[in-house]
Amino acid sequence: MATRLQVWRPDTCGCVIEQTHDPEADPNPVGLSQVLSRCAAHTLLTDQEVWDAVWSFPVGENRRKNLIRNRIFTLHGVEIVSFTFSGTGGARICTIVTSGLTANQRTAAQSWADTNIGVGKVVIT
Ligand SMILES: [Zn+2]
Repeated sequence: MATRLQVWRPDTCGCVIEQTHDPEADPNPVGLSQVLSRCAAHTLLTDQEVWDAVWSFPVGENRRKNLIRNRIFTLHGVEIVSFTFSGTGGARICTIVTSGLTANQRTAAQSWADTNIGVGKVVIT
């Protein structure tokens, strides 16, 4: 059991975060060491607030994007076209742009997001 440090650059914002992890553990627990730099949207948050905003399950920004992307791909075999976040701080809204889904599939994906992540956390277009 040897905790190590790694630098993580989430693809959902410009923050740079140093994580702790234990490569010998299964599952490998990932934790916060420190926030090395903040993006503009997260500039006013503490290290722990940045970690929660980006990584907490299931509402962290990176988790949300991955959950929806995986859900749509698993069910429909379609990659999302893009994702963006609007707002600042810990309550940003994730907008997912899709292509190739029927209206019913898109509505079902939105409903799944509302139930499993939270109403107003993800907007699927
Ligand atoms: Zn950030």
